[in-house]
Amino acid sequence: MANTDPFPPLRTTTSSPDETSALGAAIGRRLLPGVIVLEGELGAGKTTFVKGIARGLGFASAARETGSPTFVLAREYPGRLRLIHIDLYRLESIGPETADWLEETFEQDAVVAVEWGERARALLPRNHLWIRLSHAEGDQRLIECRTQGSVAFKESGR
Ligand code: ADP
Ligand code: MG
Repeated sequence: MANTDPFPPLRTTTSSPDETSALGAAIGRRLLPGVIVLEGELGAGKTTFVKGIARGLGFASAARETGSPTFVLAREYPGRLRLIHIDLYRLESIGPETADWLEETFEQDAVVAVEWGERARALLPRNHLWIRLSHAEGDQRLIECRTQGSVAFKESGR
């Protein structure tokens, strides 16, 4: 099941939360353990996208289980793979303890999705999936995904 289907850079627009979640699910179905960095202002849809990832990883009640973790540093959900959902929004600065914790977490055998991940730029592993969501007209969101370094995926459709 090792894979190496290439994952070409993706740039697309969604028109609803469901569409954003569906894109997250499509990617979630192909994920292997690794780090996903989500950039984008408040309300851009990062948490919505991670809910989709959770669904793609096989969480039946993902919507309830992955409510926005904006007020907590991390939550874990068991699934086909473990999903660790981190939100750095509330962190004003990253002290040494948090830095150690983040570095250890990034090395876990899990999918680690980090909202506001750019705030930990210096700690991010070289290889990660980078996703940026931005507001467009109305309910539209521009979503850009690309791999940084080498990131492995399951083959599509398996
Ligand atoms: P973030 O985690 O980036 O702060 P959330 O996912 O928590 O964002 O919230 C996104 C908000 O925008 C939700 O209220 C959602 O219903 C709304 N929304 C409207 N259109 C979209 C879209 N196309 N994609 C994602 N969210 C959308
Ligand atoms: Mg959020």
